[in-house]
Amino acid sequence: MKILIAEDEPTQRALLRATLIKRGYEVEAVSDGESAWKVLQRSDAPQLVLLDWMMPGTSGPEVCRRLRQRSDAPYVYVILLTAMDNLDDMIEGMQSGADDYISKPFDARALEARLRAGIRILTLQSELLNAQKMLEFRASHDPLTGIWNRRAVLDRLCEELARVEREATSSGVIMADIDYFKQVNDRYGHLAGDEVLQAVAQRMKATLRPYDFLGRYGGEEFLIVLPGCDGKKAYEAAQRIRNAVCAAPVRLSSSVTIPVTLSLGVTACPCGKKVEAVSIIEPADRALYLAKNGGRNRVEWLPEAASAEA
Ligand code: GH3
Ligand code: MG
Ligand code: MG
Ligand code: MG
Repeated sequence: MKILIAEDEPTQRALLRATLIKRGYEVEAVSDGESAWKVLQRSDAPQLVLLDWMMPGTSGPEVCRRLRQRSDAPYVYVILLTAMDNLDDMIEGMQSGADDYISKPFDARALEARLRAGIRILTLQSELLNAQKMLEFRASHDPLTGIWNRRAVLDRLCEELARVEREATSSGVIMADIDYFKQVNDRYGHLAGDEVLQAVAQRMKATLRPYDFLGRYGGEEFLIVLPGCDGKKAYEAAQRIRNAVCAAPVRLSSSVTIPVTLSLGVTACPCGKKVEAVSIIEPADRALYLAKNGGRNRVEWLPEAASAEA
């Protein structure tokens, strides 16, 4: 655990530093409030801070107030160091956003106990943040394939459609469906089908750019959003995906190999126009239907405008 010390008095600073280093902490020390504030704005800033109350320029409570005005950064646990042990000062310090305080001259064991309390809080917070991240991931990802789930990819699509209108760019949309997938389940079993789904999702993902969105739209159906792609580019991307998926049979953990093909329907959002998600999914879906009827393992394209005429 790294600790930031802000203390203007050199002897006190050296004593604090030595005490903390002896106890196994990593220490960064500064001599005034502004320098402390600068350190705290770094992305690798320590999360545990010992702030002297009285410093030239910016005081400890002032640094604390600034810290508490931020909402994005991770929580910083602040212990104020003060020579003043009157009640009003203690209250003012805590009201500025400090978590704890210790009076100077400090007792090393008391300081250590307070640091331990701070570390408990910071650990708890990091566990909560991790749990929250995991829940967010679970709420937005498909557990089988690890790609975006239906709701998440539709959310991304809506965001993308708003961007297309705002920035007058275009965006490609692909609806893809595994061919004769029911036969895979019937012949090899549902678990084999699951493995095929995972492999297909991975192959699709490998052909996409980092900022493309791939989501599991339904059982063996995938929705892909390609920011910045016009119809032609989206069509080419769909062909790349189709080729990547059917290039080699999927080898299951049981060593059974299963050939897989994909049918894809492509459409593109017109530049700078307001488009609802349904009016882009509908032509992609119809193009997919054409690809299925046209013999499968192929790509069909329909312009977004066609949906208005249909
Ligand atoms: P088509 O070429 O017309 O798309 O034929 P298909 O057999 O792929 O189409 P159909 O819609 O008849 O079958 C889809 C199958 O996908 C049926 C369903 O049991 C299977 N499926 C959906 N979700 C999962 C899943 O999570 N795991 C497995 N193993 N199968 C799934
Ligand atoms: Mg001081
Ligand atoms: Mg299918
Ligand atoms: Mg299907």
